[in-house]
Amino acid sequence: MSISIKMTSKLALGAMVACLAAAPLFAQKLVPMTAEETNLRNIGTPGHPGNNAAMDEPAPPHKIIGNLYYVGTTVHCNYLILTPQGDILINTGYEHTWPMTQASIEKLGFKVSDIKIILGSHAHVDHQEADAMVKQLTGAPVEVMDKDVPLLQKMTPGGKPHPIDKILHDGDTVSLGGSTWAAHLTAGHTPGCTTWTSKIADAGKTYDVVIMCGGGAAGKLINNPEYPNVVEDFHHTFAFLNTVPCDIPLGSHTDHYNENEKYEAMEKNPGTNPFIDKGGCKVESGNWEAVFNVALAKQMKAAGGAGPSASN
Ligand SMILES: [Zn+2]
Repeated sequence: MSISIKMTSKLALGAMVACLAAAPLFAQKLVPMTAEETNLRNIGTPGHPGNNAAMDEPAPPHKIIGNLYYVGTTVHCNYLILTPQGDILINTGYEHTWPMTQASIEKLGFKVSDIKIILGSHAHVDHQEADAMVKQLTGAPVEVMDKDVPLLQKMTPGGKPHPIDKILHDGDTVSLGGSTWAAHLTAGHTPGCTTWTSKIADAGKTYDVVIMCGGGAAGKLINNPEYPNVVEDFHHTFAFLNTVPCDIPLGSHTDHYNENEKYEAMEKNPGTNPFIDKGGCKVESGNWEAVFNVALAKQMKAAGGAGPSASN
């Protein structure tokens, strides 16, 4: 996202960074942040590159809860769901980061050939570029949200057509081996941005797990002929995330739920599960909405409009 940080003077940025040193920017639990803090999280601070600047490095694969495992990188999130009838993979990632995910799956003692269904967060290359490659490796069908089909059809790495084996609609479920995931259309970041939810049992309790698609307002919000209802879609998405039952918030980028910090905390305190962060979806949605509101107000002002009301 191109934001005002670029225009901020070095001095102001320094002050902001100093200020944030005391703020819970990299806390484990999700905390409400201002638009500036969320932008800074994505852009980064000296010595701590943000989401948009950070390079993918191999991350330790690990169990999150029940049959759900983290097999992503330090930046981009891929998830493996184990079932007695084979596994579900959510997000293949870039083609160049797929070897990291494959290594993570194997390090956990699982097999790539056991993947039976490939799902995705949204039609951007950092999450779904390797769909064709992983389908070639596994033969697993790629199931995608209807509204992301046009963007996915344009994603053809190395000339490979994007596999689209089943088209999903808002509220559809995907089931395998006793595991069921619901696909929720949470659009705005892309027209088919998909939040995945499931109930997962672990040690006698059941948890509402939510893999949030992402709420970054990266593009044109007004007068956008390619995406005329983008603002409405974002409002619907924030409303959904504010109310969805959410014991375990997860996302498509590690910064969406502090994956790296929660993993570190789990390693330091065996027996605890910091990924249980009840209400975290609402918190992160609020963070995204704050950034969205600033971007929308700026774009409306630039277009000569009055700006959105506070309730927007
Ligand atoms: Zn994206």
